[in-house]
Amino acid sequence: MIIVDKISQWREIRASLDSHSIGFVPTMGYLHEGHLSLIKQAKEENQIVVLSIFVNPLQFGENEDFNTYPRDKERDANLAREAGVDYLFIPSQEEMYPAPTRTVVQVKEITACMCGTSRPGHFDGVATVVAKLFNIIQPNRAYFGLKDAQQVAVISQMVTDLNMPVEIRPCPIVREEDGLALSSRNVYLTKEEREQATILYETLEYADRLINSGEKDALALKKKLQEKLLSCPLVNIDYIEIRQFPSLQELTTLAQNMKIIIALAVKIGKTRLIDNKIIEVN
Ligand code: AMP
Repeated sequence: MIIVDKISQWREIRASLDSHSIGFVPTMGYLHEGHLSLIKQAKEENQIVVLSIFVNPLQFGENEDFNTYPRDKERDANLAREAGVDYLFIPSQEEMYPAPTRTVVQVKEITACMCGTSRPGHFDGVATVVAKLFNIIQPNRAYFGLKDAQQVAVISQMVTDLNMPVEIRPCPIVREEDGLALSSRNVYLTKEEREQATILYETLEYADRLINSGEKDALALKKKLQEKLLSCPLVNIDYIEIRQFPSLQELTTLAQNMKIIIALAVKIGKTRLIDNKIIEVN
C-alpha cells in the first residue's frame, strides 16, 4: 500500500493508472468493519482501491466534535493495508484547504430535513469535500455506506446534477452482534450508554414489524417509535422520520410498493447516534 499525502503526488500516480478501474472509499478514519466492508466491495469491483482519510472541518458545526473526533493514523494504515487498499490518501487540512474555500456545493431539498435540519451546513461541507475528493482522485466508482443514507441521497443527487463521471455504489449497514450500527463515534459511549444504544436497532425492527402487520399511517407509526425510544432513560430524541427513499419526500400514508426510509437520530449522553432502515412496503 502506498501512502499519499499530497494532491500533486496523487495526480502523477493517477496519470499512470489511466486504463485501470478505480474504486474510491472516502472516510474520516478510525476504521471499523463498516469501512472495511466498503473496501471489500470496492476491491471486488475495481482493479485499484483508493481509501481516503480526512476529518473534514467543513462538515462539523461549531459545537460539534471536530476536535475530539477519534483519530489514529497508524492503526488505520495497518487496517487499510490488511484489507488490501492500494493507495491511502491522507491529506492534511492545509493540503485540502490552503485557504478558506469560497466555493460551496449545496444540494437543495434533500438536505432540508433530517440531519440537514439538525446539523445546519453539514451537507454543504460533505458535498463540497466529496466534490473536491472526486476531482482529486478521479475514481470510476465511489462507495458509501447506507448507515448515512441521507448522505448517499445527497451525493447521488450531486453526481447526477453536476454530471460527475463517478458511479455511486451504496453499501449495506454493518452492525455489531446486538444490532448497534458500527460507527467511529461508538467509542464515546460509556458501558451503560453502550447497553442502551441497541434501542435504535430494536426500534427499527419494531417499525418493520408494525409496517409488515399493516400499519400505514406515518404519524401513528412515529408515535409508537417515539414511545419505544423513550423507554430508554438515557435517550434524547433528535428526530424520527419516515420518508420516501431516496427522494426523502414527506409522506403521511405508506402506499404499496413504496420504498421508504425509517431514520432515527438520538443523543445518548453526549453522543449523537443515527441509524435507519430502508423498507419496500408490501
Ligand atoms: P465516516 O468515516 O464515518 O465518514 O464513514 C465513511 C463511510 O463509511 C461512509 O460512507 C459511511 O456511510 C460508511 N460507514 C460508516 N459506518 C458504517 C456501517 N456501520 N456500515 C456500513 N458503512 C458504514
